[in-house]
Amino acid sequence: MKKLGIVFIILFICLVIFHLLVIQPKKYVEEDLYDKIIERGTIKVGINTDSKPFGFYDKDWNVQGYDADLARYIAQYILKSPNAVEFYPVTPANRILKVSTGELDMVIATMTITPQRKDIIKFSIPYDYAGQALLVRSNSKITSIADLAGLNVGVVFGTTAEKNMLTLAPTSTIIGFRNYHVAYEALKQGKIDALTSDDTILSTFAYDDKDVKLLPKRYSKEPYGIALKKSKSTKKLKENIDFAIKDMQRKNIITRIRRKWLKL
Ligand code: GLU
Repeated sequence: MKKLGIVFIILFICLVIFHLLVIQPKKYVEEDLYDKIIERGTIKVGINTDSKPFGFYDKDWNVQGYDADLARYIAQYILKSPNAVEFYPVTPANRILKVSTGELDMVIATMTITPQRKDIIKFSIPYDYAGQALLVRSNSKITSIADLAGLNVGVVFGTTAEKNMLTLAPTSTIIGFRNYHVAYEALKQGKIDALTSDDTILSTFAYDDKDVKLLPKRYSKEPYGIALKKSKSTKKLKENIDFAIKDMQRKNIITRIRRKWLKL
């Protein structure tokens, strides 16, 4: 009887070992995103759609702008067709979530590479640079950030400018907006005294509307990168995007895209 008990115990241990070593559940391996894109035949790109000249809808509801041109070039490089892009609108506040959950393959949206963001997502090498600036009404007495004490300053939620203002102008009242369009309207209507963000984005408002002006001082350096999910599955994709950016830089394609869209 005792012997039988021992046999059962040994048999049980053998079964456990067999289960752990042989029929162990397969580890979840994330599919390589580059391979998935090749198989799918399109790239899902998150882009700002209210941020002229980087990303906006034209009259036929096609997405246009600097970042859209960049996305089409990346599609040409990876999939051999500039039209192999599906654009999805993102905002500065939701784009990190959308790329880190895998809902989008990448985000191309005037996105600054920062150490804090690099803790959560991956970036390509920089494709351009901007600097934080102030947009004010043309008749404003404001000349720099030092004049903003006690005044209302508009930012777009989720931008680097929103975060930077806490240290750059701690005594001004920061008012957050959903997008640039509503923030610009608030500036025109006198609800805010200044709007702060990248010079590349704000310069278009000043160019198109003589009632507002872009002040000359810059308060940060903003390297723009293409955002990817922070995962092994995006290693090959990042390598290809970096190659594509270097190729565009070598052939002066980025300079041409910049000249086509920016008024700086
Ligand atoms: N470059 C800034 C950032 O990444 C502003 C970008 C934007 O408004 O989309 O926060």
